[in-house]
Amino acid sequence: MTRIIEGLIGIHDILPGKTGQWHFIESTARKVFESFGYSEIRTPIIERTELFARSIGESTDIVEKEMYTFTDKGGRSCTLRPEATAGIVRAILEHHLDSSEHTSRLYCFGPMFRYERPSKERYRQFYQIDVECFGNPGPAVDAEIIFMAMHFFKELEIRNCSPHINSLGCPECRTAFRESLSKYMSGVRERLCPDCRRRLETNPLRFFDCKNCTDLTRQAPLISEFLCAHCKEHFEGVRKYLEMLQIPYVVNPRIVRGLDYYTRTIFEIVSERLGTQKAILGGGRYDGLVAQLGGKDIPGIGFAIGTERLSYMIERPEERFESKPRIFVASLGDEAGKLGFKLANDLRTRGIQAVVNYNRASLKSQMRRAHKMDARYVLILGDNEIRSGEVVLRDMQRQSEEKIPLKGILDAVIMQCRS
Ligand SMILES: [Zn+2]
Ligand SMILES: [Zn+2]
Repeated sequence: MTRIIEGLIGIHDILPGKTGQWHFIESTARKVFESFGYSEIRTPIIERTELFARSIGESTDIVEKEMYTFTDKGGRSCTLRPEATAGIVRAILEHHLDSSEHTSRLYCFGPMFRYERPSKERYRQFYQIDVECFGNPGPAVDAEIIFMAMHFFKELEIRNCSPHINSLGCPECRTAFRESLSKYMSGVRERLCPDCRRRLETNPLRFFDCKNCTDLTRQAPLISEFLCAHCKEHFEGVRKYLEMLQIPYVVNPRIVRGLDYYTRTIFEIVSERLGTQKAILGGGRYDGLVAQLGGKDIPGIGFAIGTERLSYMIERPEERFESKPRIFVASLGDEAGKLGFKLANDLRTRGIQAVVNYNRASLKSQMRRAHKMDARYVLILGDNEIRSGEVVLRDMQRQSEEKIPLKGILDAVIMQCRS
């Protein structure tokens, strides 16, 4: 026997049975984001490597070790996108959309790629829902985007989650903070894990993301002690607007987020389901990024949600999102089989989900199939019924039957199915 070829490690399929739930997530996202004035953008999954190196930062874990990078046949270094923001900013600049009011609020859905150690909840190809808002320095819009995310979760019936917020300051206040943090880390150098010893040289902020050094991060200096007057005022503004929108939040001065481009407000929405805290959304402000990628000095803020993790948070069972046939067309005999085939296809063109029997199966086994598929109606066609000019339509839910004349059967069945 020929061996089957399996998918790559950490790269998964989203199967029928699950996709109904994903449609629900995506259609809810569209509805919520569009009512806040956002439009969809679809950017490619592949970009020049340079784009990510310049935006995410050379010394981040993503760029250093997690990117899917290869040289194409033309000798260009290409990378499968590890996140969406850089590509969206690139598209805005390339198409000169940076001055248009219409394109200042964007969202996108799609796969991202990171070569990480795969686990039950971590994939190498994973999906994100991404939102970006350009041109507004905040702080009102910062609170608004958090409010929108919370409203999205509410529409998905995800409860017990709250925003955790922090300010990373601007380049000025962050320089002082970075110095103080480096000093602290140098002082405890011997106790740092090997990764953090390296981070001390390249990117000390990333120390706060370390899972091996939590005892040490607890005593480290915090960015909040170093914020300049403008950044402090901005952060107080975000809090004031969140209170105005009646969103309870937690200030967590240890959130730093894994990307270099963030400035000022950063946030996570943390779920406390099943007693464990898990971030289901992460985002922040990136006021310098557009200019860093060659555009005007346009501020931005956005967030990303991992669709896989989000789908685990949805409490409604997956079957509830599956589409079911409205009608099963059962047939016995050759003439009935042909009539059923034609009828089912006509029903489908009128928007009614119909399944038709193709086998020489008994009526009993066809009824069993219809029941298993949870079809609401079964139309029973036999050669005898056709001769008599009347067929049976069974309502599986009410467990009742009615006879329908063959003449005008299509319209009669459609009327039943739509009622
Ligand atoms: Zn500042
Ligand atoms: Zn560490």
